[in-house]
Amino acid sequence: MSAQPSASIAIRMMDVSRHFGDVKAVDHLNLDIYDGEFFSLLGPSGSGKTTCLRLIAGFEQPTSGSILLHGQEMAGVPPFERDVNTVFQDYALFPHMTVGQNVAYGLMIKKVPKVEINKRVTEMLEMVRLPGLEKRKPSQLSGGQRQRVALARALVNHPRVLLLDEPLGALDLKLRQQMQIELKAIQQQVGITFIFVTHDQEEALTMSDRLAVFNLGKIEQIGTPADVYERPTTGFVAGFVGTSNLISGAAAERLTGSSQTFSIRPEKIFITDLNKYVGEDMCSIVGTIRDVVYLGMYTRYLVEIEGGGDLTVIQQNLEVTSMDVLSARGNRVQLVWSKSNNRSLVGA
Ligand code: ATP
Repeated sequence: MSAQPSASIAIRMMDVSRHFGDVKAVDHLNLDIYDGEFFSLLGPSGSGKTTCLRLIAGFEQPTSGSILLHGQEMAGVPPFERDVNTVFQDYALFPHMTVGQNVAYGLMIKKVPKVEINKRVTEMLEMVRLPGLEKRKPSQLSGGQRQRVALARALVNHPRVLLLDEPLGALDLKLRQQMQIELKAIQQQVGITFIFVTHDQEEALTMSDRLAVFNLGKIEQIGTPADVYERPTTGFVAGFVGTSNLISGAAAERLTGSSQTFSIRPEKIFITDLNKYVGEDMCSIVGTIRDVVYLGMYTRYLVEIEGGGDLTVIQQNLEVTSMDVLSARGNRVQLVWSKSNNRSLVGA
């Protein structure tokens, strides 16, 4: 279920700050997350993502500002009275308990009848594709299986919002990619709002309905994966989400008629012969291929452009061999791209 703008607001953060002494971990944040949305908080280490999550969970209190959960002000409401659950990167499973007991824990605390507990635990383990593993201990599971138990343990309480703090961080790349798809499928199945913290831009782009890009305690941009990737509004977002070339000053002026900095994605640029005709709607610049990295499906070129500076270009290896691409080093070439792919940036 992809949340619509008309959906009701699950979380509203209004001018929220959390300072630790001089450190502005979260700084004047404004954010609305809709019911049923898969929303990611993306940013580099130390940008304030976890603090933001802990503020929503109630483990931290704002220095100033206000947080509403489903329309209710959260000031003074302790974590256990908030309709949210958290899944941590280290899973935090109880090692002495079985899988079944771990998943049942929250329901036992709430004194749910035993028959009901057994039914819900079985259902949850089926949902996370671990049926029949009730009797195992966490130490007898793989990393991916432990992660699923942690998810089942959080979801069994039917929270309205699930907070996930880098839950896939400890998994190897293959398993991580598989879990990304499964997690998204589970979220769509249960329809709960997921708020997912990650520093991995590919992960955020794969899973999210929308995402917020954090930098130095502030949000630089909020949007769908396509918005943020294709229409970055700041130099930071253009550089952090995917790779981007930033062109400014004289080079920008010659290409666009304005010295305002713009970004162009490496995969939007084509390498052509020097004498190839270029239409009015295209940008073109001459350069020398300085470096070539053959990456199997595609090749990454570093091209030194006339007037100084380098542009990264990515080309699919459609009809060329590794020998062909590697021998291109030192060639003088023309780089060409559609003007419609230029993105003006603020603050760059
Ligand atoms: P990471 O991806 O490394 O977890 P993050 O984006 O989640 O980083 P936060 O953990 O929210 O970042 O930290 C934001 C800033 O606040 C950092 O500079 C961090 O050192 C600081 N900070 C966080 N918690 C505290 C604390 N309890 N006391 C002092 N400083 C803190």
